[in-house]
Amino acid sequence: VLGIRDLRVRFGRRDPIEVVHGLDLDIAQGEVLAVVGESGSGKSVTALSVIGLLPENARATGSITLQGRELLGLGASEMRRLRGAEIAMISQDPVASLNPVFTIGFQVIEAVRAHDRTLSTRAARRRAIELLELVDLPEPARRMKQYPHELSGGQCQRIGIAMALASDPRLLIADEPTTALDVTVQAEVLDVLARIGRSEGRAVLLITHDMGVVAELADRVVVMRDGELVEQGSVRGVLLKPTAPYTKQLLSAVP
Ligand code: ATP
Ligand code: MG
Repeated sequence: VLGIRDLRVRFGRRDPIEVVHGLDLDIAQGEVLAVVGESGSGKSVTALSVIGLLPENARATGSITLQGRELLGLGASEMRRLRGAEIAMISQDPVASLNPVFTIGFQVIEAVRAHDRTLSTRAARRRAIELLELVDLPEPARRMKQYPHELSGGQCQRIGIAMALASDPRLLIADEPTTALDVTVQAEVLDVLARIGRSEGRAVLLITHDMGVVAELADRVVVMRDGELVEQGSVRGVLLKPTAPYTKQLLSAVP
C-alpha cells in the first residue's frame, strides 16, 4: 500500500537541519506497522510527510508512494483530496476531530456524505450507524443525538475512527492515538483500530511509545532513532531477538 524510499526531511531554509536521514519502509495490505522510537526520533515528521501536512518551513525529498502513486510533489489541493479519500489520520486528541456544536449523528452523516454526495439522507444515516457499529460504539442510534461533551474520550475516539472510515481509506495513520485516554480504554480503542485497519485491504501505520501495544497489535515494527531506521522486522523477531543495540536498550526500558 505504502512505500517510502530515501525520505529526507529538513527544517529551515538557510541552514536546513535534517531530521529524517534517508528512511526506507513499506506497509503491505492488511498489515499493522508500528513505528517506535524515543521522543524526537522523527516518527511524527515521517507521518506528516505521508499525509502532506509538514509545517511550512519543512521540506521532504525522496519518494513516498501510495498504491504506486507518488505523493511527494503533489499540490496542496490534491493532498487535501487524498486525506479525505485514500489516507485517513486518526487524531491524538479524541475530542479534536469532533465539532462541539454539532451532534454526533450530524457529524458522522456529514462525513459519509462528503464521501458520497449521491446518498439520500436515509442511506447516509444507515451508513453512519453501520460505521458506529463497526467501531463498537454502544447504542449508536442514541449516541447520534448526543453532543461530543456528553461522551467519554474513548467513545469520541471511536467516533473519530468511524468518521475516518467514512471515505473507505486504504491507509490509516495514527500518531499516539490513545495517549489522552486511560489505560483500559486505550487497549479497547487500539484493538478496534487494528481490527478495522487489517480488514478490507487496508493498512495501518501506528506510532506508539508502548511496546506492549506493539507486541499485542502490530504485525511488523520499525525502530527509529535520530531520524534513522535502526531495525525492522516481524514483531516476534524484533521483540524476541533484537539485533540493534538500541532496540535492546529500548526493550530493557519496558517495565
Ligand atoms: P515524540 O515521540 O516526542 O512525538 P517524534 O519521534 O514524533 O517524537 P518528531 O516530532 O518527528 O519526533 O521530531 C523529529 C525532529 O524534528 C525533532 O528533532 C524535532 O525537534 C524536529 N522538529 C519537529 N517539528 C519541527 C518544526 N516545526 N521545526 C523545526 N524542527 C522540528
Ligand atoms: Mg511525535
